[in-house]
Amino acid sequence: MISVRTAKGYDLPIQGAPLEVVDKPAPPPTVAVLPEHIPFIRPRLAVKEGDQVAVGDVLFTDKSNPRLQFLSPGGGQVARIQFGPRRVLQAVVIQRDAADEPVRSLAAPLEPEALDRLPRADLVDLLLRGGVWPFLRAFPYRAIADPDVEPPAIYVSLDAREPFQVPPARYLENQREVFTFGLRVLKRLCPVVHVHADADDQAFCEAYKDIITHKVQGRYPTDDSGVLLYRVRQSPDDNQAWFITGQDLLLVARMLQSGQYPTERLFAVAGSGVANPRYVASRMGAPIAHLAGEIQCKAPRFAVGGTLRGFSGDPEGHMGFYETALMVLPEPEAADFLTLFRPGFGKPSHSRTFLSALRRNPLPMTTNVNGGHRACIACGYCAEVCPVDIWPQMTYKSILAEEVEEYLAHGLLDCVECGLCTYVCPSKIELAATLRAAKHAYRKEQG
Ligand code: SF4
Ligand code: SF4
Repeated sequence: MISVRTAKGYDLPIQGAPLEVVDKPAPPPTVAVLPEHIPFIRPRLAVKEGDQVAVGDVLFTDKSNPRLQFLSPGGGQVARIQFGPRRVLQAVVIQRDAADEPVRSLAAPLEPEALDRLPRADLVDLLLRGGVWPFLRAFPYRAIADPDVEPPAIYVSLDAREPFQVPPARYLENQREVFTFGLRVLKRLCPVVHVHADADDQAFCEAYKDIITHKVQGRYPTDDSGVLLYRVRQSPDDNQAWFITGQDLLLVARMLQSGQYPTERLFAVAGSGVANPRYVASRMGAPIAHLAGEIQCKAPRFAVGGTLRGFSGDPEGHMGFYETALMVLPEPEAADFLTLFRPGFGKPSHSRTFLSALRRNPLPMTTNVNGGHRACIACGYCAEVCPVDIWPQMTYKSILAEEVEEYLAHGLLDCVECGLCTYVCPSKIELAATLRAAKHAYRKEQG
């Protein structure tokens, strides 16, 4: 057991945490896969509107690597194929019907003993055909792992510090054997597997003798595998490591154990705009409205994936391939009157110019950013919270000046895309989005 403590980061004190209940509503009428939010893929459709599909049928593949296939989480009719500007494929929506059952078998169930005998190449092929390979992602770009390489290590994060994600205690309940099987799968892919969890989940980790376990302590985003990698790496080659979340590892294990595409997901539904913040057991790619349930504000906004890392969801839209959190935030009806002269006691803020920074109790969060874009005032807050010691303001300036060597030297590729620098910036500068876009552009340039 290796203890790693991170002094930086920040925990957002916001209201709307899920209650400790798991809601199990009837399966949703529609499910979808959103290629737009799967980084770096170039989707090639394998279906058209009106086609009938079963659970596990291929909806689209990646043009750059056709072995990467994305399967249907529901059985029924392809109801809508949605394109955005410049014909970007946004969503493939399935209207579930009687074809939802029985689930198609993709492979024979794999016993633990058979896993140990299976050649690595066959295991990779099985994960690709089973549609669960894309849950394995690679640093530094967080792209889907390349099936043709063996990484130096695989990191598994068992934590969920961003408000509000599903905690491991919830999704691992009664799933210990499945998770253990998942770890054995990772060990077949790469001999070095790291699992990291905070103090509350240590007992779970201690059972795995041939796995490197870490007790990570600190504020958000200490739970991110990229932060741990930044702390423990020993050579530049380590930057090519892979990572997977605990909940995604369960999907990998379930696919191999059942031979079927796993569709069950546990979601966290939270935020001060939702009447019943709770956990919801539903389908992968479930509709946002189905999960949100009763809304208690006039103008809700939906952050799919979390407060800081999520994307803005359409009320008629669906959850993404990786996202297991839905934040519902109220849109303020009117700008606050004389905000400048009123001490911000009731608004969550990192800035010490707001009195709320002194409060410990969670506060309601809205979509109001309390001000507009201004010039950098060199306050240093962004560097103060950055968990991987980047100077976001300096990196941002070198990106705008297109000084590639300089922004790489500032550590752009270490950025874990946590969004904290943007959140704390009093000048409302879109630091995190700019750094992320630069990282993506740099990867494309590298081919
Ligand atoms: S630079 Fe990257 S890692 Fe650092 S705070 Fe901003 S988003 Fe997070
Ligand atoms: S937090 Fe914003 S204003 Fe402060 S140094 Fe960073 S970029 Fe500049």
